[in-house]
Amino acid sequence: MRRISFPSLVLTLAVFIYACSPNPYRAINKQHKKQVKAQTQKIAEIPEVRQEGDTTNVTDLWVGTTNFSIRKPNFVIIHHTAQDSLEQTIKTFTLSRTQVSSHYVVSKDGEIVQMLNDYLRSWHAGRGKWGHDTDLNSSSIGIELDNNGSEPFTEAQIESLLRLLKRLKEDYNIPTANFIGHADIAPARKVDPSAYFPWKKLAEEGYGLWYDDYLMMEIDVPTAPGTYTTETVMLETVPDHFDPKEALRIIGYDTSDLGSAIRAFKIHFIQTDTSGELKENDIRILHNLYKKYL
Ligand SMILES: [Zn+2]
Repeated sequence: MRRISFPSLVLTLAVFIYACSPNPYRAINKQHKKQVKAQTQKIAEIPEVRQEGDTTNVTDLWVGTTNFSIRKPNFVIIHHTAQDSLEQTIKTFTLSRTQVSSHYVVSKDGEIVQMLNDYLRSWHAGRGKWGHDTDLNSSSIGIELDNNGSEPFTEAQIESLLRLLKRLKEDYNIPTANFIGHADIAPARKVDPSAYFPWKKLAEEGYGLWYDDYLMMEIDVPTAPGTYTTETVMLETVPDHFDPKEALRIIGYDTSDLGSAIRAFKIHFIQTDTSGELKENDIRILHNLYKKYL
């Protein structure tokens, strides 16, 4: 008879149990369910209408209306994970000390892992502002794309994302302009998704706005007598009184730190240059774009 040492028996058993386990996330899912229950209990409660020391004129009378439903998300915020793998991101989003999460994570091969019910508030946006909305976590769905931040997004990932966006847009009637990036809402803190992200393609499919691409022309600009360089220029007339800061604010950017707002705008709409300064052509693009948000 072959003798098996105690440590190797334990290891064999552990491997056996893991292999037979239908879901390695069983324990975390159990904990998730408990937290969902605690949160949903809060909205099932009849509120204490008149609290002690209450100075409002709310009466003691509670009348429950029969006409209501649950609040819906109205924005989609796209991120890159800045991590090395889907597994790493899942781990980050299931450790309570990280205090971060998102509704969906899209892997490089296009697989999507949903981690939270769309109606619940995930912690993906953090401190941020878009227009007058200062609590984007409450109003949005967070989608994280597995990407380290300095590499292109895969075709499978983008195709998969587009199908998810279609579902979300239809389910919650999300306005086209409300598909934005993390950097857009937190320009001083965030740079994701990076300039590799295909916002133009998304806009063509109905997710996010884009400028009039047909006005972009390639022109030869003289650099020295007899020599030219080809530049892409937008054929847009910008009036003298145009204020780029106002235009960025109207689009939704928090312009309290103007350089950061410009950089976020350029990560999203210019992409070939992401500095914190607006060049002449960037201003033409900004002028063309902001009219779509008026
Ligand atoms: Zn982010």
